[in-house]
Amino acid sequence: MDTPSGLEGVVEEVVRYTVMANRFRFREAINLIASENVMSPLALKLYVSDFMHRYAEGKPFKRYYQGTYYIDHLESMTNELFSRVFEAPYADVRPVSGTIANASVFRVLAGPGEKAAIAPVQAGAHVSHTKFGTLGALGIVQVELPYDEERMNVDVDGAVRVIEEVRPRFLVLGGSVYLFPHPVEELSTAIKSVGGKLVYDAAHVLGLIAGGAWPNPLKRGADVMTGSTHKTFPGPQGGVVLFNDRDVYKRVSKTIFPWFLSNHHLHRIPATAVTLVEMMLYGRDYASAIVGNARSLAESLAAEGFRVVGEHLGYTRSHQVLVDIRPQGGGAKAAKLLEEAGIIVNKNLLPWDPPSAVQDPSGIRIGVQEVTRLGMGRGEMEEIAGLMARVLIKGEEPASVRRRVAELRSGFQRVHYALDPGRYSVETLLDLMT
Ligand SMILES: *Cc1c(COP(=O)(O)O)cnc(C)c1O
Repeated sequence: MDTPSGLEGVVEEVVRYTVMANRFRFREAINLIASENVMSPLALKLYVSDFMHRYAEGKPFKRYYQGTYYIDHLESMTNELFSRVFEAPYADVRPVSGTIANASVFRVLAGPGEKAAIAPVQAGAHVSHTKFGTLGALGIVQVELPYDEERMNVDVDGAVRVIEEVRPRFLVLGGSVYLFPHPVEELSTAIKSVGGKLVYDAAHVLGLIAGGAWPNPLKRGADVMTGSTHKTFPGPQGGVVLFNDRDVYKRVSKTIFPWFLSNHHLHRIPATAVTLVEMMLYGRDYASAIVGNARSLAESLAAEGFRVVGEHLGYTRSHQVLVDIRPQGGGAKAAKLLEEAGIIVNKNLLPWDPPSAVQDPSGIRIGVQEVTRLGMGRGEMEEIAGLMARVLIKGEEPASVRRRVAELRSGFQRVHYALDPGRYSVETLLDLMT
């Protein structure tokens, strides 16, 4: 049947925009968004499967649906792989995102009107930890811990005092904008002494933890660790919860369905499993290359004349670099100009910004995990810093810089730290469905 003419145009536009977006991201742009990544070729090939059509409510081998034999097997394998990689006794891959993972844990640990302590927003707390996000939606009362400006981190002594005084049901550490590890060991004793649990939100640093380049909070006193599976951990978009605490595991795994989801997006599970194996094989090299590149980029940006945050602490220990971009016109303007040059970053509040500055904050946040995965190293970090300086310090036309950005990107087309998909028979998957 022919498509009516008006609709034909709609379909063409859908296809064209999708292809153009892919061409831009894969051929032309340098992506430095700190919360993004690209999947390995094998994970990608497994992602488009019949699982994206199916339901499997409940837990593996105890479902409310029939026809789930294969996903039962794959899901329990994936949970076991998570347990191995993160040395976590229990894992649940069903949360479809990091936010849902947080919601499912927060809801079990505290009820409406009860208190949770969170890392200060200046130390990178995510919106889901706050009264404006998931925590607030669940009616849990937010108690923000004090900030230590000098160490750019949670003020440990002040935090211990607040925890002892307020006696929160749980404490959340980990965040979205942080250069240095939060003090898990130091605060786990305090939260335990008041009968509370320590939740570590590893959304950003999950891949660094898997590769041993960031301290594993579960080995340092965290009871539960939540995460996204698509930031430094380079899998499909999704979430996970990892547990030391058996009781919390039982309660969360009993309630994630039906409280926070029905369908848990089954097609992400084979791709997640393969990514876990790739992290076991190549994660150490990948994670240490990321941290090295972040440091190199920070140093190169400073050498170009940018005001890089955290110099007195060695700039960064994570995948992130923060730049105080006020001398170049502020976060909103800088991020826009860089986008015109094909360099994608986001504007970000820096520790001294009031929340009201969110539309035009002092800083930009840069993450090097994706370019590292594409094989870039120190030399490319120097070049990227130089390209940013051409746009933001030397005032060159973004369009002229954009040509060099695309040239640089075209030399980095392959995902590293990945299995060769040619070794596995996945080619038939699409044929079977079409
Ligand atoms: C990104 C992020 C989340 C949310 O993850 P989604 O998978 O996007 O829902 C939660 N916590 C932190 C610290 C994050 O950075």
